[in-house]
Amino acid sequence: MSGPAPAKPCAPLAGAHTSKELIRQLFDLNTVFEISQSFHSVLDTHALLDGIIMTTIGQMGVGAAAVVVQMPGESQRLSLTRSKGWVDIDDSEWHVELRSPFAKVLHNEACPLLVDDILPRIDTDPHFVDFLPRVGCALVAPFAGRDRLRGVLYTAPKLNGHPFTNDDLQFLGMITQQISIAVDNAILYESERRAARELIAARERLVRNERLATLGRLSAAIAHEVNNPLGIIRNYLQVMRDDLAANPHTLDTLNMVADEVDRIARIVRQLLDAFRPDASRPAAIDIGEVLDAVLVFLRGELKRDGVTVESSGFDNLPFIIGREDPLRQVFINLALNARDAMPDGGTLTITASADDEFVTVSFTDEGCGIAADALEQLFDPFFSTKKDGRGTGLGLSICRSILEGFGGRIEAENVDGPGTGAVFRVCVPRVDAGSDPLQSDTDLQQGPDS
Ligand code: ADP
Repeated sequence: MSGPAPAKPCAPLAGAHTSKELIRQLFDLNTVFEISQSFHSVLDTHALLDGIIMTTIGQMGVGAAAVVVQMPGESQRLSLTRSKGWVDIDDSEWHVELRSPFAKVLHNEACPLLVDDILPRIDTDPHFVDFLPRVGCALVAPFAGRDRLRGVLYTAPKLNGHPFTNDDLQFLGMITQQISIAVDNAILYESERRAARELIAARERLVRNERLATLGRLSAAIAHEVNNPLGIIRNYLQVMRDDLAANPHTLDTLNMVADEVDRIARIVRQLLDAFRPDASRPAAIDIGEVLDAVLVFLRGELKRDGVTVESSGFDNLPFIIGREDPLRQVFINLALNARDAMPDGGTLTITASADDEFVTVSFTDEGCGIAADALEQLFDPFFSTKKDGRGTGLGLSICRSILEGFGGRIEAENVDGPGTGAVFRVCVPRVDAGSDPLQSDTDLQQGPDS
């Protein structure tokens, strides 16, 4: 780049009069070509923006640069920000509303502008009138799209203290022109990738729900058939146990049979509960009230097992759409799992809160935590690590299908690495956040008789 000369923004590249200028222009063109070549192969938006910033800092000899472009899916503003060399500046300060005077001037000019030149033209834009001089921004360069502004590159003054020249502005103009295509490509690629990811997740959810619905219908039918003979076997076992009290060895064997029968009975009971015909319609539910009722129901059992419950945030939660019984079943399951994870007792902390979209309830225990390889399978049907056949491995998979039926989700992690306790987080959309009550009317909760 050549030395200081009065900056005259947006001068055309054509019209080089001296061979020295022609050589410089060829050199610049070659540099721009190489830069744009390398940028066009980068499809990761963050890596691309970092590359743009580092190139600008290097090529222009400035002390800092920032760039803001459109976030995929956002149409009214530029808010995807990267910056280098500026300290203590919140990312949001660089954001640009596309309807703002600042955006309009940049879009109309479509070339780099000195901040001193742009300030008098945006006096109706108080944020940038204050912000640009305050942070020592010297130059702004738009990424111009045909219909609207695509991004903005901000730079600090040159490190050598020289003013920006016409050549600098021209060079930066060429780079931003090339870059804006690369940025468009990267953003498009990212949106496509995101859409593909969402599609895959939706398809997996569908397959899982289908599988669970089929499993539900089948299980309900089997459970129905198995339940009666099971009851009869248990009764007879009890009779035999009384008769055999004097024969310890046979009694041991019989007790083992009884344990196994109890296990079958537990599985059947859980399946019957989970897939019981439920004619209730989804309704607005106060999760806080459901949690209160669950704690009253479990208080005695938890206390007996040395579990203290600390709860907070149950009051004044927004309503959710769902069915009360299945939701209660979810919370009971999570509380009892926490109890099982703390065989020597401990504290179970249940907190509820809400943001713009979701009501979130967390169950945090002080138990054994979740092994890394178990995290993946936690919600799979029949996955259980509980000893002596005490677990059925159905609880969490049923919880997940219930919550997904309400448009919600459940996730689990260790509090702070394995062995530090686990936290299970339930998120359900709040009523005013566009939840779809019909979605919860799936046949997951319907038995064959419904
Ligand atoms: P079950 O309780 O019958 O085993 P679940 O589906 O409810 O079935 O749980 C599956 C498995 O998830 C449990 O066996 C246990 O390994 C793990 N798990 C559930 N809750 C916790 C918890 N709070 N802490 C650690 N592991 C847990």
